[in-house]
Amino acid sequence: CGIIGYAGRPDAVPGIGAGGHGALDVVMEGLRRLEYRGYDSAGVAVLTPLGIEYRKKSGKLANLVAELESAPLTPATTGIGHTRWATHGGPTDENAHPHLADNGRLAVIHNGIIENFAELKAELLDAGTVFVSETDTEVAAALLASVYRGEGDADLAKSMQLACQQLEGAFTLLAVHTDSPGTVVAARRNSPLVVGLGDGENFLGSDVSGFIDFTRRAVELGQDQVVTITPDSVLITDFFGEEAAGTEFYVNWDA
Ligand code: GLU
Repeated sequence: CGIIGYAGRPDAVPGIGAGGHGALDVVMEGLRRLEYRGYDSAGVAVLTPLGIEYRKKSGKLANLVAELESAPLTPATTGIGHTRWATHGGPTDENAHPHLADNGRLAVIHNGIIENFAELKAELLDAGTVFVSETDTEVAAALLASVYRGEGDADLAKSMQLACQQLEGAFTLLAVHTDSPGTVVAARRNSPLVVGLGDGENFLGSDVSGFIDFTRRAVELGQDQVVTITPDSVLITDFFGEEAAGTEFYVNWDA
C-alpha cells in the first residue's frame, strides 16, 4: 500500500559518519507519512555490511516500532519500507513485507496485485522453491531470485526488467540485494512510483509524501519502467533495458 526506499551516502549514518540520514530513520519517517493510505501491517529491511536485516509486524506502525526497539537493526545507509493492505493472504507477520528470496540475500516489497501469481508459483514450486507466506509478493520475489541466478546474470536491474516482463497485474516493486550495496532497484506497472532527488542521497516513494521531509525535487516514473538508485545516481530504463526518462517536477505544497 505504502512504499519507501532510500539510498544514502555511507558517511551519513549517525554514529558512524558526519551527520545526514540513516536509512531506518528515513524509512520510518516515510512510513509515518504514508499511514494516511491505510494499512494492516508494516515492515522494513536494511542492507548492512553483514547482509539484509528486516523486521515486520502485523498491525499498526507502533508494533513495528516496538519490535525495532526490542531487536534493533544495524545502522545502515540503504533501506526499504512497506505498509501493507492485504490482498493475498491474511494480515499476519509472515505475510507482511519484505519478502526474502535468494537465501536471504534479496528483499522485496510490493504494492498491488500480481494477477498471474498462481501459474508462476506452480512453476517455482516445481523448481523446488519453498514459500513461507501466502502472498503474491513472495512469488514475485522468488521469480526475481530465479531470474537473477539465470538469464539476469546476477545483475539486479536487468533481473528486475526480465522478471517484470513475466508479471501481470498492478505492481510497484522495490528490491535490495546483498551483492549491490548502496543500491535500490524498483519497477512499476499500473501502480505509482516516484523518485526523490537529494544531495548525496536518493529516495523512492509510492507518492511524494513518503520523502517530503527530505527533498522536494521529484521524478515521476512512466508506465513499465525500472529505476536504479544509489546515493549519487538515478538510472531509468524500460522493461527491455532501453534507457528512459521520467518526468521531473518540484513539490510545492506543504505536507
Ligand atoms: N498483494 C500484496 C499482498 O497482499 C500487496 C498488497 C499491498 O499493496 O499492500 O501482500
